[in-house]
Amino acid sequence: RAKSAGGNRFELADPEADARAITRHGLTTALPAALDRGEFFIEYQPLVHLGDGSVRGAEALVRWLHPQHGVLGPDRFIPLAEHTGLIVPLGRWVMEQSVRQARAWRERHGDAGPLRINVNLSPCQLHHPGLVQDTVEILERTGVTPDALCLEVTESALIGADDDLLKPLRRLAEMGVDIALDDFGTGYSNLANLRRLPVSVLKLDRSFTRGMQQFPADPVDLKIVEGIVALAHSLDLAVTVEGVETGAQAEQLRVLGCDTAQGWYYARPGPPERLHELALVDAAG
Ligand code: C2E
Ligand code: MG
Ligand code: MG
Ligand code: MG
Repeated sequence: RAKSAGGNRFELADPEADARAITRHGLTTALPAALDRGEFFIEYQPLVHLGDGSVRGAEALVRWLHPQHGVLGPDRFIPLAEHTGLIVPLGRWVMEQSVRQARAWRERHGDAGPLRINVNLSPCQLHHPGLVQDTVEILERTGVTPDALCLEVTESALIGADDDLLKPLRRLAEMGVDIALDDFGTGYSNLANLRRLPVSVLKLDRSFTRGMQQFPADPVDLKIVEGIVALAHSLDLAVTVEGVETGAQAEQLRVLGCDTAQGWYYARPGPPERLHELALVDAAG
């Protein structure tokens, strides 16, 4: 690809982009067999109560151990799985594994174990008519109560959602499954719209917490987060913050009234055994 002559828009021949496109194609065709061969695995990242530091749950984050490319993060393959529809069986697999893990934690630690497992749902899964039934079956098969499960849906997936799309989420919420609005603040949605959604948790996007890595934080960032927290609490929503990387951030977010936090400051996503250790430390302290 040559530069287009003149003007200020041009495109350079980019061998790296070509390589990426080839890999993308290869990954897409390899996805279905990868699920059959068990190449996916889940890492768990703790959700920590800002008030007392206890582990309240964990978010399940899927990875692909690719035989040639090594461990791939979800950003590399979730969009491909969405494009091909594989996200539905893959998402079901993630949910079942995660709920089984939640049961194992509960059996092993009782109340000291992570109480809840957060599972991400892609927009395709929301549109899939089997969502409610699949979820019910997984909970029944594993013998886990619905309150152990929180489904994360991004704000952008729900922008402009009509009642048909919200119906399955309402049904799940009525059963006692929590619904969290993920990456909140990135979707430019109408705040008044929140009232209409069957969500009980707001997950404030990392872009808001970034400005709080230093102390004192940017005063405008503080005001914005303060306003969102006040709004969320007035609507009876709990606030979780993503991407907490420093103690200064954690402290400022606690002062601002956020309920739970997640981020590298507490723990990176890791194997389920890590959570056993964290829960034990927690119970001992
Ligand atoms: P997300 O749901 O917003 O998940 C949070 C992401 O932030 C994760 O990236 C996590 O590893 C990362 N993170 C956590 N703490 C920190 C921190 O302190 N600093 C920084 N810089 N990053 C932090 P990850 O694991 O790469 O996942 C990316 C996205 O992929 C997720 O964003 C979620 O939207 C999607 N995803 C992950 N697992 C699944 C899944 O099973 N199904 C679906 N549909 N999507 C998934
Ligand atoms: Mg999430
Ligand atoms: Mg998020
Ligand atoms: Mg995010």
